[in-house]
Amino acid sequence: MKWEDICVNCGLCCHEKVIYPDVLEIDLSSPCEFYDEETHLCSVYSERFAKCHRCEKVTPFKAMFSRSLPDSCAYVEWARKHHIRMRGKREFVLSSSR
Ligand code: SF4
Ligand code: SF4
Repeated sequence: MKWEDICVNCGLCCHEKVIYPDVLEIDLSSPCEFYDEETHLCSVYSERFAKCHRCEKVTPFKAMFSRSLPDSCAYVEWARKHHIRMRGKREFVLSSSR
C-alpha cells in the first residue's frame, strides 16, 4: 500500500482549525479554497503545495506528533496501530460559523 492510500479523504485536515491544549476544533464552514465540498477531494492535488502555502504533507513524523490532525485521521490511526503515536488521545470538535 502506498503512503497516500492510507488517507480516507475525510477532508477534516482541509479546514480551518484551532488547537487548544486538550481539544482540536475544526471549523467545517472554513474549508480550504481548493477543497471540493461535494467530492471531499482536493481540486489541485498534484500541485497542492505550490498552490496552497498552508497545505502540509502528512508525513510519518506528522502522524506521530502532529496536534493539528484529528484522532480520526487515518494516519494518526496508522501511527497508533504501530505504537508510534507520541501524543495521547484528544477530543476534537466540529464547529460551523456559517
Ligand atoms: S490544497 Fe491542501 S489543504 Fe487545500 S484542499 Fe488541497 S489538500 Fe486540502
Ligand atoms: S484528516 Fe487524515 S484521513 Fe482525513 S483527509 Fe486529512 S490526511 Fe486524510
